[in-house]
This record gives sequence, structure tokens and C-alpha cells, in this order.
Amino acid sequence: MVKKVAIVGAGPSGILLAHYLLRRGDKYQIDIYDRLNDPRLVKFSKSRTFSIALNDRGMNALRKIEGVEEAVKAISVETTGSINHKKNGKMRRMQRKKPFLTADRTNLAIALLNALTQKYDNSRLNIHFNSKCIQVDFAAKKLKFEKLDEALTPISEADFTVDYDLLIGADGVHSVVRESLLTTEFFECNQKYYRNDYKTIFLPNPNEKPGVNLETGKIHSWILDPNTAVLLVYQLDGTISGVIYFPHKKNQIVGLSTSEEVLQFFQDNFPEVAQLMPKEEAEAFLARPVSSVLTIRCNRYHYSDSVLLIGDAAHAVSPSLGQGCNAALEDVAVFDKLLDQYSDDIALALEQFTINRKEDAHALAELSENASPSSSKLFIQFLIRQRFAKILHKIFPKYFSPSMRDMMDDSTLPYSKILNLYKGWISKFKKSNEKFLANL
Ligand SMILES: Cc1cc2nc3c(=O)[nH]c(=O)nc-3n(C[C@H](O)[C@H](O)[C@H](O)COP(=O)(O)OP(=O)(O)OC[C@H]3O[C@@H](n4cnc5c(N)ncnc54)[C@H](O)[C@@H]3O)c2cc1C
Repeated sequence: MVKKVAIVGAGPSGILLAHYLLRRGDKYQIDIYDRLNDPRLVKFSKSRTFSIALNDRGMNALRKIEGVEEAVKAISVETTGSINHKKNGKMRRMQRKKPFLTADRTNLAIALLNALTQKYDNSRLNIHFNSKCIQVDFAAKKLKFEKLDEALTPISEADFTVDYDLLIGADGVHSVVRESLLTTEFFECNQKYYRNDYKTIFLPNPNEKPGVNLETGKIHSWILDPNTAVLLVYQLDGTISGVIYFPHKKNQIVGLSTSEEVLQFFQDNFPEVAQLMPKEEAEAFLARPVSSVLTIRCNRYHYSDSVLLIGDAAHAVSPSLGQGCNAALEDVAVFDKLLDQYSDDIALALEQFTINRKEDAHALAELSENASPSSSKLFIQFLIRQRFAKILHKIFPKYFSPSMRDMMDDSTLPYSKILNLYKGWISKFKKSNEKFLANL
């Protein structure tokens, strides 16, 4: 019998899962719901997007679907390493063994969406934008949605209800599906704010500014202290964008109240970034909200034989290691493999998904929360250690493991194994971070 699948969330994980399920033949009828407007039809909103670095884990999941790797490459920039800019003008380069792609989060979703609608017509696939899931009835297998207008305000008396055989919660860090699961027996979810917040930055093409030379194909960083830094990457159109992250408490950013103060802040702390920042961007920066980051740890990702959480809904992590989306895409490939293994027996595949994924997702949360220490001394020690790890691994690959970052990005080694290899450092960093938070 054809299974009716409702995917809540048209982000990277939700759309990729639709690709994978539809590829399995006509066993699945897919409906995708998202609370936002169709991103292909609305003006690009800078406050809602940011760049995502896609490494081997994410790319492996994408390339299993014909045509998707090419579609993603077409909207991405190839990145071969990073350059850390010091205040005295010096630079520290980190060359990557394997290049990776950076893509804007919204453009990634659009590329996946276009590839999906080009392949499948509405006989098996329907996508409903402006549809916000507001309630789940697990016993009756029904979902309630609010219909929103273009300004994302609810249209009165336009609520609607749908039923499902399989519900996929791919609705991101603030997942309504996950929230609803809290009413079911023995479902536990721990959510924790990461110590740093962030704001996005969008700057014009640096090469058009005389005297500025920022190499293309690199991630550029300026580190003020272990908890305050600017990270920028080139976009396809030659502009450069990224984020500034800073401590949730005791930071200078939330106190800025005019565009002049914004420019002065960057001039004092990140002069090269200030050079590139026009007054309009300083104004836009001021108006953009500060974003907080939540880490999510759940004790399971399924309910009975009919509900699955994937991506950020299941295990959101801080962007410090650039793994959230890669892990979200990897979830989809893991679930597909389980469907193969259990011949599309959904109940078994769901149960096994939790068993297979929990240890790695929790390890990723631990790694991302404590990937770098708040103490400057430990931070420098760690950077030196990572540099040595790279050199030693290059000369004696049999005896020395790659650096933690290389293992995350250039391999598909399970996160739990990486945590195990680096548990000494991670526990040191955890202590340093707890001390930092206690003193705030
Ligand atoms: C600043 C920043 C930088 C990052 N950099 C990286 C990086 O370099 N590499 C990396 O791998 N990851 C990175 N990430 C993490 C990455 O963005 C996420 O892990 C990824 O987007 C998760 O994909 P998803 O599909 O699970 O969820 P999302 O991308 O959050 O998509 C969820 C979708 O669900 C919809 N939705 C939400 N609630 C409802 C509802 N009630 N009803 C209907 N629809 C709903 C939303 O509109 C959205 O479209 C970064 C994150 C941030 C914040």
C-alpha cells in the first residue's frame, strides 16, 4: 500500500529526504509543508540566511541522488582553506587537504527544491508553502496547519488538517513536531543555549575596493578573542558575507545604537572588515536581530511506527564546527540505508534510526559545544596542537591521527569515534567553558 508521508520543513534535510523516498518507487506519496513563502518566489532575505560549508558527509548524501551534486555545485563556491587575519596585518593560512563547497542556506534549499520539482510531478509530490504546523495528534495521525499570507500572518479560518502514515519532523531547531513529542511517554529532550550569539554580515565585492586584497576561495577570519570573531566567505556574485559571533552576555554588539557606532566598533576591532563596510550595511547590520544558538539532545528520534525527527529538529548544534547541515544530510542517507536493510519496514527502520544515530548526534553536540575553549591560553595551545597534528599526520600517517577538523570534514568517521579520540581535549575545554560561563 502507498504510504502517505508528511514532511514538515522544506529545509535541506526535508527536501533531500523527499528525493530519497521518491527514488524508492511509488511506495511513497509525499507532501512537504513549510511555514515560509516559497523561497523561489520571494525577494532574497539577508536576515534569514547565511553560508554553509558542505564537507564529505553532506556531499556523500547529496551525490547519491542523480543530478543533485551538480545542482549544488552550480550555486556554491569552492573553498580550499582558511586565512586568519591578525590585527598587525599578518596572516595565518590553513590549507585544506580536500576543497569543500560553501553555499548560501536558502540557495541550497532552492537548488534541492528545483531538482525535486524537475523530477517529480504532483501525482506523487505536493509542496505547500505558507503552511505552519501548529499541532500534532499522534494517536489519530493528524497534523493541523495554520495558513499564512505572504507577510506570514495567519489567514483567519484557513486552518486545515491532514492525515499521514509517516510524519517527518524536519522543521528545524524550534521544531513543533519535537515539541509535540514531549507529550508522549518517555520522550526527553534537553535544549541548551550556546555561549555565543551571532549576527550576519553582508559586504560588497572586496576586489572592487582599492587597497583591499582578500583571496578568493578561502574562509577569512579575524579573531578578537576566543569568543568574538568575524568569519567571511565569498559568494557566487563576488560579494563576501558571513557572521560575527560574540558572547551571549557582556558583549559590545547589543549596545550599538547608530550606524556610526557600528562602523566605529568594526574600525576599532576589525579594521579590515570596517574598510569594506558601507554605511548602508552598517545600518542594515544594526537592524538585523541578534540570533541565539540552541543545542538539542533527544533520547530518541522516532515515535511508534509513524514519526521521525531529522536534521536540526533532532539534533541542532552550534555552527562552531560547521557540521549541522552536513549531519542533517547524513541523517537522510542513514535512514535510506535502513529502509534498504529492512525492506521498507518503517517501524524497524525508525527504531534502528534512533539506535544508529543517537550516540553520534550526542557526540556532535558535545564536540560543537566544546570545540574551542573560552580561555585564551588553552585556545592558543589547541591551535598549535592542531597545526602539529596536521604536520605529523602528513609525515607519519600511520602513527598520528589527522587533526580534529580534518576528521570532521574530510572523512565520514562517526562523530562518536572522533569524540573518543579527542576526549582529553574536549573535557579540558568543557571545564574552561563552564568556568567562563560561571563568571559571566
Ligand atoms: C550562522 C550559521 C552558520 C552555519 N554554518 C554551517 C556550516 O558551515 N555547515 C553546516 O553543516 N551547518 C551549518 N549551520 C547549520 C545549518 O544551517 C543547519 O544544521 C541546517 O540548516 C539544518 O537543516 P534542516 O533542514 O534540518 O533545518 P532548517 O534548515 O532549519 O529548515 C527547517 C525548515 O522548517 C521550516 N519550519 C520550521 N517550523 C515549521 C512549522 N511549524 N511548520 C512548517 N515548517 C516549519 C522552516 O521554515 C525551515 O524551512 C549553520 C547555522 C548557522 C545558524
